[in-house]
Amino acid sequence: MSTSILYHLFGIVGYDYVSTNYCEDKVEFKVRHRSSKLCCSQCGSHEVTLRGTKERRFRTGRVVRKNVFIVLDVQRLECNVCRAIRQAEIRFADPRVSYTKAFERSVLDLLEMATIDDVARHVGISWDVVKEIQKRHLQKRYAKPSLKGLRRIAIDEIAVSKGHRYLTVVMDLATGAAVFVGDGKGADALDPFWMRLRNAKHKIEAVATDMSAAYISAVRNNLPKAKLVLDHFHVVKSLNEKLSDIRRDLYRKAQEDEKKVLKGTRWLLLKNPENLDETRNEKARLEEALSINKPLAIAYYLKEDLRSIWSAKTKRIAGKNLTAWINKAKASKIRQLVTFAKTLRTHRKAILAYYDFPISTGPLEGMNNKIKTMKRQAYGFRDIEFFKLRILAIHEAKHVLVG
Ligand SMILES: [Zn+2]
Repeated sequence: MSTSILYHLFGIVGYDYVSTNYCEDKVEFKVRHRSSKLCCSQCGSHEVTLRGTKERRFRTGRVVRKNVFIVLDVQRLECNVCRAIRQAEIRFADPRVSYTKAFERSVLDLLEMATIDDVARHVGISWDVVKEIQKRHLQKRYAKPSLKGLRRIAIDEIAVSKGHRYLTVVMDLATGAAVFVGDGKGADALDPFWMRLRNAKHKIEAVATDMSAAYISAVRNNLPKAKLVLDHFHVVKSLNEKLSDIRRDLYRKAQEDEKKVLKGTRWLLLKNPENLDETRNEKARLEEALSINKPLAIAYYLKEDLRSIWSAKTKRIAGKNLTAWINKAKASKIRQLVTFAKTLRTHRKAILAYYDFPISTGPLEGMNNKIKTMKRQAYGFRDIEFFKLRILAIHEAKHVLVG
């Protein structure tokens, strides 16, 4: 057995081969420290006295259905310079783990195409050890993403563990990468991010957020020079909620025959008119509901009208459309629409900022779908730090693997 095989297969270099032990399901290669390489792990001095050994076993892979181990009598050394007794340095494994660096690399390779569960079964170690290997790798690579060159970002919350717990994600809109994941959905979730931004001497020019008061004030306070752009999908979604609310109110008060007409129209009201299904008579059903109910008709047409705020040719026209919309909503005297008009007036600047920076939190929504796939497996986020690291790495994951 040549030492070069140990080197080429398992990255073991600077050790002498001693013997091989074949068992039913494993192969063990015994190696020993090369005496010329023995030195103090702290100061590097070769002035050392041998002080006994302790046998350790390092898993290093699987070859033709057999687990391969490296067995080493780890030398204890007394350094004549430091005057301390320590273990000799082990170069093929990280401290305190019982597998080689080569093994770690092969596990990471396998994780590119299989789940943690699959990999654990294949290499014959526990789920937790595979997870720890991945976690340490993610920590080294993704724990502190570079904020250099960051210009346009989106901020949004994601729900973990069925909505009881939230994380705030910041995305670089140029690369699609998450650059920060904070705890909770309040303004303080972002505090560590602002600190890192200041240290990085950032040049953020625009931020897309939803209508969360916490995010809005956090952005205004910490990035006073950046343009805040209110995400238009969130605005539309919020009006849709009002529309459903109005329909619910009307339904409660309606007579029996009107109830029949209103029944099942909620989705029709929220659909874009071009998506109404003719074969299912959706257009006619919607028109009937609107014709018997004036407030519902007003709310519905205002919902359709809202889109004109983001589809105008210029910012000036968009501003006019917005003013007109607010006036119509106020004139409707429908409680939910009047409130919504006030909200839009408050956010006027941030809504129209879309014409300076046409950005949205839409890309983050896409990332959220990937995160949901990741989340379906409960294991992944029992360890919230691990879960956050996986979000920071998600843009590079070829497949979103779970388990
Ligand atoms: Zn020393």
